[in-house]
Order: sequence, then C-alpha cells, then structure tokens
Amino acid sequence: MVKLSRRAALGALAAVPVAAPLLPHLVPAAALAQQPAAAPAAQQAPGFYRTRVGDLVVTRINDGQFARPKPTEGFVRNASADEVAAALRNAHLPTEALTIPITFMAVQGGGRTVLLDVGTGGQLMPTAAHGARNMAAAGIDPAGVTHVVISHFHPDHIGGLTGADGKAAYPNAEILVPEAEWAFWMDDGAMSRAPEAMQGTFKLVRGRFAAYPAERIRRYGSDAEVVPGIQAIAAPGHTPGHTVYGLSSGGKQLMVLSDTSNHPALFVRNPGWHAIFDMDPTLAESNRRKLFDRVAADRAPVVAYHFPFPGVGHITARERGFEYEPAPWSSEL
Ligand SMILES: [Zn+2]
Repeated sequence: MVKLSRRAALGALAAVPVAAPLLPHLVPAAALAQQPAAAPAAQQAPGFYRTRVGDLVVTRINDGQFARPKPTEGFVRNASADEVAAALRNAHLPTEALTIPITFMAVQGGGRTVLLDVGTGGQLMPTAAHGARNMAAAGIDPAGVTHVVISHFHPDHIGGLTGADGKAAYPNAEILVPEAEWAFWMDDGAMSRAPEAMQGTFKLVRGRFAAYPAERIRRYGSDAEVVPGIQAIAAPGHTPGHTVYGLSSGGKQLMVLSDTSNHPALFVRNPGWHAIFDMDPTLAESNRRKLFDRVAADRAPVVAYHFPFPGVGHITARERGFEYEPAPWSSEL
C-alpha cells in the first residue's frame, strides 16, 4: 500500500488543475462579474394550496398572520403563564409572541366557486393583507365567486367582504350567513349592552354587510346544506352563531373546523383551555371536544382557519388532549 505523507497528499491535490475539465458547469469568474447582483426576495412565495374532496377542489388561501404579544399573559383564560409557556416550548414556538395564521378557502365544483370566509380584506393589520394577492395567484377571480359562506362575524373572517374603497369585493356572489350570528350582531340591544371594546366590531360588521344588497344576503339555519356538498353544523361558543362545515363529495369528506380551536399547539393539545376570543368559553369547549372526538374517531381530514398554513391535516386523540397532525404536502391534486 502506498502511504502518502500529509504534505505529499496536499501537494498532490494542489497539483490537480482546477480549470475547466474538472468543473465544466461553472461559469468563468469573469462572466459572473458582469452579471447584475441578484437581489434577495422581499416577500414570501404565494400562499395557496390545493386539495381535493371527491369532485370538489379546495384551495386554501393564506391571508397572512397576526402576532399575539405575550401569549402567556391573558390569552388563555384558565391556564397559568407557566403552563402556556410550556405548551409553546413543547411545540418549538417562542413564548414572547404567538404567530396566528389566517387562511380562508375556496371550494370549486358543480359550476360554483364558493368562498368559506374571506379574510381581513387587508384592513386590520399590515401582516394580514395577502388574501387578494394569493387568490389572484391561485387564479380565482373575485367577480367569478358565486357564493360566500360566512362562519361567524369576527373581523378576520368578514373584513374582506369589502375592499379598501368600501365596495363589495364579491360583486356577483350570494352571501350566506348563520341565522344565529346575524340575529346577534344586528340586534341593537346586544350592541348597546356590549362592552366599549366590542362596539367597533358591531360597526365593522354592519358596514361590511351594508355594501351588499339585502336580497343577496341569505341567512341559513343551524344544520342547513348551505350549498350542495357543504353541510353547516352549528358549533356556538366562540360566537353565538359560530358554524363549522362538513364537505362531502364522491364518498370523500373534509371537516372545516373554522375557529373551533385557535392555535393547535395550545387548544388542540389542551381542548379545555379557553381562548380570550371565545364569547361563551364553556359552550365553546363542549363543542370543541365533541368535534375533536368525532373527527378523531372518523379519522376525517380537517382544515382550520388559524392552524399553520395550509392547515390541512388530522386530529388524533392522545392520552391527554389531542394532537394536530399536518397532512403531507402533495405535489399532486
Ligand atoms: Zn378567527
């Protein structure tokens, strides 16, 4: 066996000509110097993702995110700061701010383009202002939307009903809203009894719907099939008319959980935790547990509005609580 000293080995390497024959794919340095420097990208890749439910094509459309500062302080009503911090750390999330994604969706099939909620409309916060751009990237024209189905009237779900000009963002759509949600937010008595901080929400809600002719707003009952293949399931608690949906087509199903749970690292792991946003936290918890039990037992795929994008996956029962398991990203539809 030939033994090379370290010095001889290095010398042998240095003697190999590093010119063209070894690295033919490299552009000569002189040519590189003439290229303009490539600027790094300034924004995230388009945020849309497709999945199929039988004959229905679902497009998840990311609207962006908002950062909840200090999620260990007051965000979960009935857990200590230490418990919330531990849950965040277990999920490899920072404890000083919680990123809450916002993703609505389009359901296309049977000649219809149905939106389930519409995002913020870019009018609530600069970090949640990508819905229109991502919908355009997905090739969905707002003028071609036939139905808008609203789960509840929180501003991050209905803000996008109008553009910044105050006009209807979906000029040809029928707007479908839960009867119980409409009854609450349009009730002057409820508005006058609401705390100061909620008065602005009442005004925003009323302004958004006022942009549409009354005859184009249809109220649906608690267990209506709102559009063929989209079954409403009343799940109040988060708000009085909060609604989730069972999508079904060709023997396939998808449960649209809306705001049954905010961030899964907190409220799927701990279904008994109460988020500050839930108007009736006890009722919200009871419906959350029922829905999680059902989708876990059925092994039904789920999507949810505030889960990490694209928010498509399963919920599995654990010894204590549940786990959200994101579905693998698929390059095939
Ligand atoms: Zn929400």
